[in-house]
Amino acid sequence: MASEGFGVLIDAGLSGRELEERLGASGIDPKSIGALVLTHDHRDHCHGAGVWARRYGVKLYAPSGVPAAIAASYGERTLNRVKVEEFEPGSAFAIDGMEFSSFKTSHDAHASVGFRIRNGLAAIGFATDLGCVNEIVERALEGCDLLYLESNHDEEMLRKGPYPYFLKRRIASALGHLSNEDASKLLRKLVNPNLKGVVLGHLSETNNEPAVAFGEAHTALTLEGAEEDVLLLVARQSVPGRVVDI
Ligand SMILES: [Zn+2]
Ligand SMILES: [Zn+2]
Repeated sequence: MASEGFGVLIDAGLSGRELEERLGASGIDPKSIGALVLTHDHRDHCHGAGVWARRYGVKLYAPSGVPAAIAASYGERTLNRVKVEEFEPGSAFAIDGMEFSSFKTSHDAHASVGFRIRNGLAAIGFATDLGCVNEIVERALEGCDLLYLESNHDEEMLRKGPYPYFLKRRIASALGHLSNEDASKLLRKLVNPNLKGVVLGHLSETNNEPAVAFGEAHTALTLEGAEEDVLLLVARQSVPGRVVDI
């Protein structure tokens, strides 16, 4: 995301090279990314963080204890020579005129957060990797202009799918991932007059289909009478998404 030409990358699960290619394909100069913010310490969110932060000399913001958890899991050198600023989950911090208000999410990582990001003109809600929604999450995402919401799996596809039982249980648990059904329930509560766009993300390639996630969220928007006013997009794992201006 970017405000007045200053970009912030939230999570870096891809390799440094892949990140550069994807940004380039979306017409974004990697040098315009002035900071990196992590939600949690799972590999699909932090894999390229160290390489990226070193290559571009940008500061890494992460929930307290997450840099140590990354070092313990992926090697002491992962974040070598990276300027790190830790924040308490639930606290707010500013990056170049953007206020990042973090909120705790229910997920089986060392620490895990979502963000409400404001620049004085608009507010973006960012929530991924959460097994369930509570009032804190709902309140943090209220009244946003743009939402990025996890829509990880279709509950029936997960139940009937090929994953081993323990993994199905983990994903469906309160510390796992948000289903299309739960994302839609949340979305219905978050429809508001400012809302211009919704991006569904973190879709499982095994237990979801973009059309299914889209359909579920579209129904939610329709039930709230907002389907014509809100741009609904599904982010894919394998291709860069489009740029949304708000
Ligand atoms: Zn995770
Ligand atoms: Zn994840």
